[in-house]
Order: sequence, then structure tokens, then C-alpha cells
Amino acid sequence: MFQNYTDVLTTTVPEDAKQFYIKDVDGLEMYKQSINSLYHKFLSSEAQNYIRDTASFLDLGVSASAEVMTSPPSQEEDEVSTVTTGFGSIPEKLLETFLRASRRHNIKLNHHLKAIKKMRNGNYNLYFEPTITRNGRTSIIKNKPFIKKCAKKVILAVNRLSLENLNWKGLYQPHIREYITKAVKDVSAGKFFLAYNFPWWRRSPVYSNYAISDTPLKQTYDFGTSKANPTKSILLPMYNDGDIPYWNELIEREHGNINNSDNVFSVGKEIVKVTERYLSAIYRLPLKDIPPPINGIISYWQNYPYGGAWQLWMPGYIWPDVERQMTKPSKKDDVFVAVNAFSSRSLSYESNSALQVVELIMPYFGLKSKE
Ligand SMILES: Cc1cc2nc3c(=O)[nH]c(=O)nc-3n(C[C@H](O)[C@H](O)[C@H](O)COP(=O)(O)OP(=O)(O)OC[C@H]3O[C@@H](n4cnc5c(N)ncnc54)[C@H](O)[C@@H]3O)c2cc1C
Repeated sequence: MFQNYTDVLTTTVPEDAKQFYIKDVDGLEMYKQSINSLYHKFLSSEAQNYIRDTASFLDLGVSASAEVMTSPPSQEEDEVSTVTTGFGSIPEKLLETFLRASRRHNIKLNHHLKAIKKMRNGNYNLYFEPTITRNGRTSIIKNKPFIKKCAKKVILAVNRLSLENLNWKGLYQPHIREYITKAVKDVSAGKFFLAYNFPWWRRSPVYSNYAISDTPLKQTYDFGTSKANPTKSILLPMYNDGDIPYWNELIEREHGNINNSDNVFSVGKEIVKVTERYLSAIYRLPLKDIPPPINGIISYWQNYPYGGAWQLWMPGYIWPDVERQMTKPSKKDDVFVAVNAFSSRSLSYESNSALQVVELIMPYFGLKSKE
């Protein structure tokens, strides 16, 4: 599609700027339209359905700039590096290093930032609501006064939805408000895990450790077998960003109204039943060969403060411009934003860009990033 219907091969703009300059054959720039609109113009319904059915993630409202290919896909097999201690050990280690680096470094958990006010002397008062975390669930402690802290400079590493709700003047400037509410949008996603005494799915005649299907499960992963005695095996039947309202309906039937900040729920009978029906089709195994799970949880990202699992760029915006202005939203304030939502370099579902946005702020603190 890009070869035939855009000027990607003939334009002379530098590679790194192509995303924002290439036009379709009607003369409309990619960044001004959604991928959906591009598909409707140049692809048959059948081709579009094929893409929808086979794509791992689905949101088509995203800016067409996100899909621009400037070079052919690599034929080389990617080497995969994994974190043997688990992905979570990266932020844990970073935090440990930060705390060890100076006695003045500190972390205060369970402080929900609600407002920032600039004082006459140029410093900032930060207002926090105290929260409590029990069994992994965080809630506000009612009737407790706000905690006030004073700062010379502030770095906001909070999610897009949280920025939208934060009471600070700098975020209410019209162009910044527009970037927060319109330039990117939150995408809800969910996954769930089922635990079994044995990995029945590996008996499938079409077994694969990863499958994409045109079902509301979308992506299915074999999550492996533990070394514990007796062993347990984990299946991740669903990883999805397209059918969250459907899974929500099922969770709500099981757990009641879930319109709060909880994002992990136990899996009920209805979810297991519908999942088994789809797994039977995906693995081509009779339903009777699928044993009941011994445990299951479903997790999804939609509620405050996350708003979504990640953000997508919407049509109409040149990402580096938005990123630059969001990094320091107010020219006259030492308040910075370091969150993946507005990262121009890679999509916000890649955590490496969350680290790159930190580097954008370092020069404001007289620091140079390591090459
Ligand atoms: C389902 C899912 C799968 C993913 N898979 C991958 C993957 O395979 N590989 C990969 O590289 N990346 C993946 N990511 C993306 C990665 O997790 C994010 O890009 C990264 O965590 C973003 O970092 P961040 O610092 O911008 O935001 P976050 O990690 O979301 O941190 C923001 C923090 O701010 C806190 N907060 C929000 N509001 C307030 C407030 N008002 N006061 C106080 N604290 C507040 C939040 O509680 C949170 O701890 C995935 C994300 C999801 C949801």
C-alpha cells in the first residue's frame, strides 16, 4: 500500500522526517489521517478484514504516520534477550540504585498527587492525597487531610489521564490541554492467565507457543511450566486491545460494577466457558479434553490513573513538536513531564521509550545522557 499509493519511494526528505512528510497519491500527508482512513481509500474490504484478523493489536484510529515503512522488513531472525530475574526487576534495580546514591534520596509511596501551586518565592507546593495499599489494591484514605510538600523543581512521571486530572495551571494552557486530551488517546488492553496441573494445549495437532486468532482472545501464549513440585502450567489465553468492552461485561457480571481503579479480578465461570470454546477451536482439541483450570486472573488497563495500557498518536499532530512542548509544558515553570504517553521516538507500549523521555529532561538539570 505504501509503495503503490504514497510517495515514500520518490520523496527526497530525510528518512527520519519521512513519517511527517510523505503524502498519499491524493496529496494528503500521512500524519493528517488515520490508518483507518488510509485503508478505506486504498484497500478492499477483504484486505482490511484480513489485516484486522491477523494483526496482534487492532486500533485503527491511530495516525497513519505510525505505519509508515521507510525500509523493507528485515529478513534476519531477531535475537531475543530476556531478563532472567523478570521484567519487574528493572524498575526495582533502578529504584535501589537511586536510593543508594545519596542519603538525601527518598521515596514516599501512597502519595496521590492532586494539585501543584506556585508560590510567590517561585517554589511549588505539591498537594497529595494519602492512599493505602492492601493485597495489591490501592484506595484513597477517606477524611484524611492532604499532605503538602514544597519543591524547587518538579518532574511529573504520571500517566496521561492523571495529567488531565491534575490541578496545575501549566496544564490548562489551551495548546497543552489540546495535546493532553487530543494528540494521543489511551488504548485499553487486557490479558488473563489460567493455571493448570498439566499443559493440555501442548497435545494440540497444531500446537504453537503463540497464536493469533480472529476471536475475542486475539493473542494466546503458552506461558510455560513451573519447576515447582508438583509442576503447574500457565496459559495466557487472551491478550487484546480490541474487545475490552466485551470482557468488561463478563467481569462486571461476575464482580459487579468495576468502575474504580482496581485492575485485577478473579476469573469466573462464564469467562472460563467462553474461553474454553475458543481454545478448543484454536488448538483443534475437543472440549472434553480441556480440564477445568485450577486458578485464573484477568487484568486490564482502563481505569484511573492509567486510563489505558498505552497511548496512540492521533491524526493531525507532528510528534516531536508535541513531545518537545509536553516535556516542559510551561516556559516560565520548572515543571517537567517524563511519561511515555508523548514519546515521539517509539510507541508508548515499549518501555525503552519511557527511559528515553527521561533523557529529554536531563539537560534542564545540567546532566548529559550517556551515549
Ligand atoms: C498490558 C501491557 C503490556 C506491556 N508490554 C510491554 C512489553 O512487552 N514491552 C515493553 O517494553 N513495554 C510494555 N508495556 C509498556 C510499559 O509498561 C510502559 O511503556 C511503561 O511502563 C511506561 O512507563 P511510564 O513511566 O511512562 O508510566 P507508568 O509505568 O505507567 O508509571 C506511571 C506511574 O505514575 C503513578 N501515578 C499516576 N498518577 C499519579 C498521581 N496523581 N500521583 C502519584 N502517582 C501517580 C502510577 O501509579 C504509575 O506507577 C506494556 C504495558 C502494558 C499495560
